[in-house]
Amino acid sequence: MRYEMMFPDQIREAIDNNTPVVLALGVLEYHSEHMTPGVDTLLPVRALELLEKEMPLVIMPPFYYGAGTYAVAPPERNGGIHVDSAVLNSFARQLFYNLLRIGFRNINVFVHHQSENFANGMPTDLSFKLAARQEIFAFIENERGDGWWGDNSSASYYEDHAAGDDPFNWISILPFMSAEAQAQFPIDHAGEQETSLMMTFCMRLRWWERLRKGITSVTAFVSRARRTWRSCWTKTSCSSTRSIRAQ
Ligand SMILES: [Zn+2]
Repeated sequence: MRYEMMFPDQIREAIDNNTPVVLALGVLEYHSEHMTPGVDTLLPVRALELLEKEMPLVIMPPFYYGAGTYAVAPPERNGGIHVDSAVLNSFARQLFYNLLRIGFRNINVFVHHQSENFANGMPTDLSFKLAARQEIFAFIENERGDGWWGDNSSASYYEDHAAGDDPFNWISILPFMSAEAQAQFPIDHAGEQETSLMMTFCMRLRWWERLRKGITSVTAFVSRARRTWRSCWTKTSCSSTRSIRAQ
């Protein structure tokens, strides 16, 4: 269900069932002449739409305005938009504050942009990761006061953590593609991997029309990409979206 289309009783039901709340977090970044700037956001958006056919999800409106950086191309006449990580962190804190207040405890954010080295992190995912930690700490401290971690009621904290059941799992920032999938299909920028995923996920972009008109100059490359990747979603379970907790 799309969050903005849910009635209050449906929101309450999702909270009671601990239904996964999912957010596609991405950027608007120049992706060469054969692709559109929304690639890094559209991929998780479409993957989540597909995943929703298999399991109940609360799909939040996607967030496109990450730290695209100008590493690939300057914005002038190319279309990239970069928002500073400090601004992102402020926004994400407000967002998570509200989601926790609403009652959600199974929040999953999916990032594709610059996720090839996810353990170390990049500005977009790091700002959201930090915000998640900050807001979870603030939320618990507000409810239980200082010393909550040292209190006897937290005695099972480390066992809960091992079972994946501690409060710091309330919000997860995850790479769109799992490490295993990335090992099999390395992430690129506007190369075969991204192009073919986009061609599979976003048919509405009318690729073939552009190819026919000669607007896209990489016909052979795009054809190869499409052949290689056409069914990657179904064949390889390439996305870590499939690993989110059902409840
Ligand atoms: Zn990309």
